[in-house]
Amino acid sequence: MIIDCHGHYTTAPAELTKFRDGQIAALKSPGAKALAKPQISDDQIRESLEKAQLKLQRERGTDLTIFSPRASAMAHHIGTEATSLEWSRVCNDLIQRVCGLYPENFVGVCQLPQSPGVPPANSAAELERCVNELGFIGCNLNPDPSGGLWNSPPLTDRHWYPLYEKMVELDVPAMVHVSSSCNPNFHATGAHYINADTTAFMQFLTSDLFKDFPTLRFIIPHGGGAVPFHWGRYRGLAQDMKRPPLEELLLKNVFFDTCVYHLPGIELLLKVVPVDNILFGSEMVGAVRGIDPRTGQYYDDTKRYLDALPLSAADRAKVFEGNARRVYPRLGARLSAAAK
Ligand SMILES: [Zn+2]
Repeated sequence: MIIDCHGHYTTAPAELTKFRDGQIAALKSPGAKALAKPQISDDQIRESLEKAQLKLQRERGTDLTIFSPRASAMAHHIGTEATSLEWSRVCNDLIQRVCGLYPENFVGVCQLPQSPGVPPANSAAELERCVNELGFIGCNLNPDPSGGLWNSPPLTDRHWYPLYEKMVELDVPAMVHVSSSCNPNFHATGAHYINADTTAFMQFLTSDLFKDFPTLRFIIPHGGGAVPFHWGRYRGLAQDMKRPPLEELLLKNVFFDTCVYHLPGIELLLKVVPVDNILFGSEMVGAVRGIDPRTGQYYDDTKRYLDALPLSAADRAKVFEGNARRVYPRLGARLSAAAK
Protein backbone atom coordinates (compact mmCIF):
# COMPACT_ATOMS: atom_id res chain seq x y z
CA MET A 1 0.00 0.00 0.00
CA ILE A 2 1.22 3.50 -0.82
CA ILE A 3 0.21 6.18 1.67
CA ASP A 4 0.71 9.84 0.77
CA CYS A 5 0.98 11.63 4.11
CA HIS A 6 0.48 15.12 2.72
CA GLY A 7 -2.51 16.20 0.62
CA HIS A 8 -4.82 19.20 0.85
CA TYR A 9 -8.32 19.82 -0.46
CA THR A 10 -7.15 22.58 -2.79
CA THR A 11 -9.89 21.76 -5.28
CA ALA A 12 -12.87 22.20 -2.95
CA PRO A 13 -16.06 23.50 -4.59
CA ALA A 14 -16.33 27.28 -5.03
CA GLU A 15 -19.05 27.44 -2.34
CA LEU A 16 -16.33 27.02 0.27
CA THR A 17 -14.41 30.07 -0.96
CA LYS A 18 -17.66 32.01 -1.20
CA PHE A 19 -18.37 31.21 2.45
CA ARG A 20 -14.90 32.36 3.44
CA ASP A 21 -15.21 35.56 1.41
CA GLY A 22 -18.51 36.26 3.17
CA GLN A 23 -16.94 35.55 6.53
CA ILE A 24 -14.09 37.99 5.85
CA ALA A 25 -16.49 40.64 4.52
CA ALA A 26 -18.62 40.31 7.68
CA LEU A 27 -15.59 41.18 9.83
CA LYS A 28 -15.97 44.72 8.55
CA SER A 29 -19.61 44.95 9.59
CA PRO A 30 -19.92 43.93 13.24
CA GLY A 31 -23.37 42.73 14.14
CA ALA A 32 -23.96 41.16 10.72
CA LYS A 33 -26.07 38.04 11.03
CA ALA A 34 -24.34 34.67 11.08
CA LEU A 35 -23.46 33.20 7.71
CA ALA A 36 -25.20 30.11 6.45
CA LYS A 37 -22.90 27.12 6.15
CA PRO A 38 -21.86 26.40 2.55
CA GLN A 39 -24.28 24.09 0.75
CA ILE A 40 -22.20 21.54 -1.13
CA SER A 41 -23.63 18.34 -2.60
CA ASP A 42 -21.96 14.92 -2.67
CA ASP A 43 -21.80 15.18 -6.45
CA GLN A 44 -19.92 18.46 -6.23
CA ILE A 45 -17.42 16.84 -3.88
CA ARG A 46 -17.04 13.85 -6.23
CA GLU A 47 -16.53 16.12 -9.21
CA SER A 48 -13.91 18.20 -7.38
CA LEU A 49 -11.84 15.11 -6.65
CA GLU A 50 -12.38 12.79 -9.61
CA LYS A 51 -10.49 15.00 -12.06
CA ALA A 52 -7.80 15.97 -9.59
CA GLN A 53 -6.61 14.03 -6.52
CA LEU A 54 -8.34 10.75 -7.41
CA LYS A 55 -7.16 10.91 -11.02
CA LEU A 56 -3.60 11.54 -9.86
CA GLN A 57 -3.76 8.73 -7.28
CA ARG A 58 -4.77 6.35 -10.06
CA GLU A 59 -2.22 7.64 -12.58
CA ARG A 60 0.65 7.64 -10.12
CA GLY A 61 -0.23 4.37 -8.41
CA THR A 62 -0.76 5.66 -4.89
CA ASP A 63 -3.55 4.36 -2.69
CA LEU A 64 -4.41 6.61 0.20
CA THR A 65 -3.91 10.30 0.95
CA ILE A 66 -3.81 11.73 4.46
CA PHE A 67 -5.98 14.69 3.63
CA SER A 68 -6.46 18.09 5.23
CA PRO A 69 -8.02 21.45 4.40
CA ARG A 70 -6.13 23.74 2.07
CA ALA A 71 -3.17 24.95 4.14
CA SER A 72 -2.72 28.37 2.54
CA ALA A 73 -6.40 29.13 3.21
CA MET A 74 -6.21 28.44 6.97
CA ALA A 75 -5.04 32.07 7.32
CA HIS A 76 -5.21 32.08 11.10
CA HIS A 77 -4.20 35.74 11.13
CA ILE A 78 -7.57 36.83 9.69
CA GLY A 79 -10.28 37.87 12.14
CA THR A 80 -10.66 36.59 15.67
CA GLU A 81 -10.58 33.27 17.45
CA ALA A 82 -14.30 32.92 16.66
CA THR A 83 -13.59 33.51 12.95
CA SER A 84 -10.92 30.85 13.00
CA LEU A 85 -13.10 28.35 14.86
CA GLU A 86 -16.03 28.77 12.48
CA TRP A 87 -13.75 28.48 9.42
CA SER A 88 -11.90 25.46 10.81
CA ARG A 89 -15.10 23.60 11.60
CA VAL A 90 -16.51 24.21 8.13
CA CYS A 91 -13.26 23.04 6.50
CA ASN A 92 -12.90 20.00 8.76
CA ASP A 93 -16.50 18.94 8.25
CA LEU A 94 -15.94 19.05 4.50
CA ILE A 95 -12.83 16.86 4.81
CA GLN A 96 -14.92 14.38 6.77
CA ARG A 97 -17.44 14.23 3.93
CA VAL A 98 -14.60 13.53 1.48
CA CYS A 99 -13.37 10.71 3.70
CA GLY A 100 -16.92 9.38 4.04
CA LEU A 101 -17.42 9.28 0.27
CA TYR A 102 -13.99 7.75 -0.41
CA PRO A 103 -12.94 5.88 2.73
CA GLU A 104 -10.32 3.87 0.86
CA ASN A 105 -8.71 6.94 -0.72
CA PHE A 106 -8.67 9.58 2.00
CA VAL A 107 -8.26 9.80 5.74
CA GLY A 108 -8.63 13.11 7.53
CA VAL A 109 -6.26 15.49 9.28
CA CYS A 110 -7.69 18.67 10.75
CA GLN A 111 -7.08 22.37 10.61
CA LEU A 112 -6.84 23.88 14.09
CA PRO A 113 -8.73 27.05 15.06
CA GLN A 114 -5.57 28.91 16.01
CA SER A 115 -5.50 32.68 16.26
CA PRO A 116 -2.69 35.14 17.07
CA GLY A 117 -2.31 35.71 20.80
CA VAL A 118 -4.82 32.99 21.67
CA PRO A 119 -3.57 30.07 23.80
CA PRO A 120 -3.10 26.88 21.73
CA ALA A 121 -5.00 25.12 24.52
CA ASN A 122 -8.12 26.58 22.92
CA SER A 123 -7.54 24.40 19.84
CA ALA A 124 -7.70 21.19 21.87
CA ALA A 125 -11.51 20.91 21.72
CA GLU A 126 -11.63 21.04 17.91
CA LEU A 127 -8.80 18.50 17.71
CA GLU A 128 -10.73 16.21 20.02
CA ARG A 129 -13.93 16.65 18.00
CA CYS A 130 -12.11 15.84 14.77
CA VAL A 131 -10.41 12.74 16.17
CA ASN A 132 -13.23 11.32 18.28
CA GLU A 133 -16.25 12.36 16.20
CA LEU A 134 -14.94 12.73 12.64
CA GLY A 135 -12.37 9.92 12.73
CA PHE A 136 -9.35 12.06 11.91
CA ILE A 137 -5.84 10.83 12.63
CA GLY A 138 -3.80 14.02 13.11
CA CYS A 139 -3.68 17.79 12.78
CA ASN A 140 -1.83 20.55 11.02
CA LEU A 141 -0.21 22.83 13.56
CA ASN A 142 0.67 26.37 12.50
CA PRO A 143 3.81 27.53 14.37
CA ASP A 144 3.11 31.11 13.24
CA PRO A 145 -0.60 31.98 13.39
CA SER A 146 0.33 35.61 12.64
CA GLY A 147 1.03 34.70 9.00
CA GLY A 148 4.67 35.75 8.76
CA LEU A 149 5.28 37.99 11.76
CA TRP A 150 6.50 35.20 14.05
CA ASN A 151 5.28 36.73 17.28
CA SER A 152 4.14 33.54 19.05
CA PRO A 153 6.44 31.73 21.48
CA PRO A 154 8.54 28.94 19.91
CA LEU A 155 6.94 25.51 19.52
CA THR A 156 9.01 24.33 22.45
CA ASP A 157 7.53 26.88 24.86
CA ARG A 158 5.08 25.79 27.55
CA HIS A 159 2.55 28.02 25.76
CA TRP A 160 1.93 25.02 23.47
CA TYR A 161 1.96 22.29 26.13
CA PRO A 162 -1.81 21.98 26.73
CA LEU A 163 -2.33 21.21 23.04
CA TYR A 164 0.53 18.70 23.11
CA GLU A 165 -1.08 17.03 26.12
CA LYS A 166 -4.23 16.54 24.04
CA MET A 167 -2.21 15.21 21.08
CA VAL A 168 -0.49 12.70 23.35
CA GLU A 169 -3.78 11.70 24.97
CA LEU A 170 -5.37 11.13 21.55
CA ASP A 171 -2.15 9.60 20.16
CA VAL A 172 -2.16 11.82 17.06
CA PRO A 173 0.79 13.62 15.43
CA ALA A 174 0.90 17.13 14.01
CA MET A 175 2.31 18.23 10.72
CA VAL A 176 4.05 21.57 11.32
CA HIS A 177 2.37 23.65 8.62
CA VAL A 178 2.21 27.40 8.26
CA SER A 179 -0.44 29.10 6.14
CA SER A 180 -0.49 32.13 3.88
CA SER A 181 1.97 34.94 4.47
CA CYS A 182 0.82 38.49 5.08
CA ASN A 183 4.45 39.61 5.15
CA PRO A 184 5.54 40.56 1.61
CA ASN A 185 9.10 39.49 2.40
CA PHE A 186 8.00 35.88 2.48
CA HIS A 187 6.36 34.25 -0.49
CA ALA A 188 3.95 31.73 1.05
CA THR A 189 4.94 28.45 -0.55
CA GLY A 190 8.41 29.45 -1.76
CA ALA A 191 9.78 31.02 1.42
CA HIS A 192 7.35 31.07 4.37
CA TYR A 193 6.69 27.31 4.23
CA ILE A 194 10.33 26.35 3.89
CA ASN A 195 11.42 28.86 6.55
CA ALA A 196 8.88 27.45 8.98
CA ASP A 197 10.02 23.88 8.40
CA THR A 198 13.62 24.83 9.06
CA THR A 199 12.70 27.02 12.03
CA ALA A 200 10.64 24.29 13.72
CA PHE A 201 13.51 21.81 13.47
CA MET A 202 15.96 24.25 15.08
CA GLN A 203 13.47 25.02 17.84
CA PHE A 204 13.15 21.30 18.60
CA LEU A 205 16.94 20.92 18.57
CA THR A 206 17.47 23.51 21.29
CA SER A 207 14.86 22.23 23.75
CA ASP A 208 13.98 19.32 25.97
CA LEU A 209 10.44 19.18 24.63
CA PHE A 210 10.68 15.46 23.91
CA LYS A 211 11.87 14.73 27.42
CA ASP A 212 8.61 16.26 28.59
CA PHE A 213 6.62 14.50 25.84
CA PRO A 214 8.45 11.30 24.84
CA THR A 215 5.61 10.17 22.55
CA LEU A 216 4.80 13.51 20.89
CA ARG A 217 5.32 13.33 17.12
CA PHE A 218 5.74 15.97 14.43
CA ILE A 219 6.06 15.68 10.69
CA ILE A 220 8.10 18.47 9.16
CA PRO A 221 6.82 18.78 5.61
CA HIS A 222 8.41 19.89 2.35
CA GLY A 223 11.30 17.50 2.96
CA GLY A 224 12.18 19.28 6.20
CA GLY A 225 12.84 22.64 4.57
CA ALA A 226 16.56 23.38 4.49
CA VAL A 227 17.35 20.86 7.21
CA PRO A 228 18.50 17.79 5.25
CA PHE A 229 20.74 19.90 3.00
CA HIS A 230 22.35 21.39 6.12
CA TRP A 231 22.34 18.22 8.25
CA GLY A 232 26.00 18.74 9.13
CA ARG A 233 25.25 22.23 10.42
CA TYR A 234 22.53 20.90 12.70
CA ARG A 235 24.66 18.00 13.93
CA GLY A 236 27.48 20.46 14.61
CA LEU A 237 25.23 22.98 16.36
CA ALA A 238 23.83 20.24 18.59
CA GLN A 239 27.37 19.17 19.43
CA ASP A 240 28.50 22.74 20.20
CA MET A 241 25.47 23.22 22.43
CA LYS A 242 26.33 19.99 24.29
CA ARG A 243 23.09 18.47 23.10
CA PRO A 244 22.81 14.74 22.41
CA PRO A 245 23.25 13.49 18.82
CA LEU A 246 20.22 14.29 16.60
CA GLU A 247 19.18 10.63 16.48
CA GLU A 248 18.80 10.54 20.23
CA LEU A 249 17.55 14.11 20.64
CA LEU A 250 14.89 14.31 17.94
CA LEU A 251 14.50 11.35 15.69
CA LYS A 252 12.07 9.38 17.82
CA ASN A 253 9.71 12.33 17.52
CA VAL A 254 10.43 14.26 14.32
CA PHE A 255 9.74 12.97 10.81
CA PHE A 256 10.09 14.38 7.30
CA ASP A 257 7.96 13.98 4.21
CA THR A 258 9.19 13.66 0.63
CA CYS A 259 7.64 16.85 -0.79
CA VAL A 260 10.86 17.77 -2.56
CA TYR A 261 10.27 18.30 -6.23
CA HIS A 262 13.37 16.93 -7.92
CA LEU A 263 15.36 13.69 -7.86
CA PRO A 264 18.63 15.09 -6.44
CA GLY A 265 16.71 16.52 -3.47
CA ILE A 266 15.08 13.17 -2.71
CA GLU A 267 18.43 11.41 -3.10
CA LEU A 268 19.94 13.76 -0.54
CA LEU A 269 17.00 13.36 1.85
CA LEU A 270 17.31 9.58 1.77
CA LYS A 271 21.06 9.77 2.14
CA VAL A 272 21.18 11.95 5.24
CA VAL A 273 17.93 11.33 7.14
CA PRO A 274 17.40 7.81 8.56
CA VAL A 275 14.86 5.87 6.50
CA ASP A 276 12.70 5.33 9.61
CA ASN A 277 12.06 9.09 9.68
CA ILE A 278 10.87 9.58 6.10
CA LEU A 279 7.21 9.40 5.06
CA PHE A 280 6.12 9.48 1.44
CA GLY A 281 4.26 12.69 0.63
CA SER A 282 3.54 14.67 -2.51
CA GLU A 283 1.30 17.56 -1.40
CA MET A 284 -0.77 17.10 -4.53
CA VAL A 285 -2.70 19.01 -5.68
CA GLY A 286 -0.67 21.75 -4.14
CA ALA A 287 2.04 24.30 -4.27
CA VAL A 288 3.71 23.34 -7.52
CA ARG A 289 1.35 22.07 -10.18
CA GLY A 290 3.37 22.23 -13.39
CA ILE A 291 5.28 19.77 -15.51
CA ASP A 292 9.08 19.82 -15.52
CA PRO A 293 10.10 20.33 -19.17
CA ARG A 294 13.34 18.46 -18.49
CA THR A 295 11.57 15.25 -17.51
CA GLY A 296 8.09 15.71 -18.98
CA GLN A 297 6.65 14.75 -15.56
CA TYR A 298 4.85 16.66 -12.84
CA TYR A 299 7.26 18.20 -10.33
CA ASP A 300 5.05 16.94 -7.49
CA ASP A 301 4.99 13.32 -8.68
CA THR A 302 7.41 12.47 -5.89
CA LYS A 303 6.75 8.74 -6.18
CA ARG A 304 8.74 8.74 -9.42
CA TYR A 305 11.83 10.02 -7.65
CA LEU A 306 11.56 7.33 -4.99
CA ASP A 307 10.97 4.68 -7.65
CA ALA A 308 14.20 5.81 -9.36
CA LEU A 309 16.28 5.18 -6.22
CA PRO A 310 17.81 1.78 -5.45
CA LEU A 311 15.91 1.33 -2.19
CA SER A 312 15.66 -2.13 -0.63
CA ALA A 313 12.17 -3.62 -0.47
CA ALA A 314 12.19 -3.17 3.30
CA ASP A 315 13.16 0.51 3.12
CA ARG A 316 10.63 1.14 0.38
CA ALA A 317 7.89 -0.39 2.51
CA LYS A 318 8.86 1.87 5.40
CA VAL A 319 8.76 5.08 3.35
CA PHE A 320 5.56 4.24 1.50
CA GLU A 321 3.57 2.65 4.31
CA GLY A 322 5.19 1.44 7.51
CA ASN A 323 6.41 4.79 8.82
CA ALA A 324 3.04 6.43 8.20
CA ARG A 325 1.29 3.66 10.14
CA ARG A 326 3.76 4.12 13.00
CA VAL A 327 3.52 7.93 13.11
CA TYR A 328 -0.29 7.92 12.70
CA PRO A 329 -1.30 4.95 14.91
CA ARG A 330 -5.01 5.64 14.30
CA LEU A 331 -4.54 4.98 10.60
CA GLY A 332 -4.57 1.21 11.04
CA ALA A 333 -7.99 1.25 12.72
CA ARG A 334 -9.41 3.59 10.06
CA LEU A 335 -8.22 1.31 7.27
CA SER A 336 -9.64 -1.80 8.92
CA ALA A 337 -12.99 -0.01 9.28
CA ALA A 338 -12.89 1.14 5.62
CA ALA A 339 -12.17 -2.42 4.42
CA LYS A 340 -15.32 -3.80 6.11
ZN1 LIG B 1 0.92 21.25 2.73
